[in-house]
Amino acid sequence: MSSETTGARARAHDSELLAELVRSAGSVVALTGAGISVPSGIPDFRSPATGLWERVDPMEVAHIDTLHSDPARFWRFYGERFATLATKRPNAAHEALVALERAGWLEGVITQNIDMLHSTAGTDQLVEIHGSIAHCSCLSCGTSVAQDQARARLLAEPDGVPRCELCAGTLRPDVVLFGEPLPEAAIARAGELCAGADLIMCIGSSLEVQPAGALPLLTLRSGGALAIITEGPTPLDQLAAVRLHGDVVRELSGLAAALEPA
Ligand code: ZN
Repeated sequence: MSSETTGARARAHDSELLAELVRSAGSVVALTGAGISVPSGIPDFRSPATGLWERVDPMEVAHIDTLHSDPARFWRFYGERFATLATKRPNAAHEALVALERAGWLEGVITQNIDMLHSTAGTDQLVEIHGSIAHCSCLSCGTSVAQDQARARLLAEPDGVPRCELCAGTLRPDVVLFGEPLPEAAIARAGELCAGADLIMCIGSSLEVQPAGALPLLTLRSGGALAIITEGPTPLDQLAAVRLHGDVVRELSGLAAALEPA
């Protein structure tokens, strides 16, 4: 037998093992990161970069201090980001998670992504621990504004800074910016889901950013299992019952197909 055939058989075995773990678990949650959106054409800014992330340091320009000190600079960057993300669509990996949820296999999805692709795909129980670009809010009075309205205001302003209709305060995207803490309610809900899960599937996340990287430990501590479906290495690889290295679209489409019908 060639080593290639052995490798293919090992991968098939791991995929079957994952389906088996889902079938035998009472509660399954998914934790997703940038890797699930790469097939939708959204680059992971931690990967050797292209476009937007190459020309600026996101940790500096997408920082809460920059929004306050130089809103025009902040919004030049974020306005471009909004425009890029507005054209992106969910891929088959997002859709497979929706299928698993609707079939009763999946309790919910926790995501590090702000791109709205899980909600667009139709995931119902969704925890966006870094917020999402769905809305902006006023820095002064807190009024919430939908993303398309914020974009329209940004385009209408000579300095490119979208402002509040009520008080003319600067708008901010409702995402966690560099220099900001994560939203407590979302983190609490994510922790609850993970601690109560018999299986956590980590998908397209390097598990290097905290506290997302620590969430699988809550599942493991309460006796649950960990599956990792991510192309690159993660710090938790040794703890995983199943470790799939293939692309997320193929692996999740395969999983959804294997589990049909519920
Ligand atoms: Zn306002």
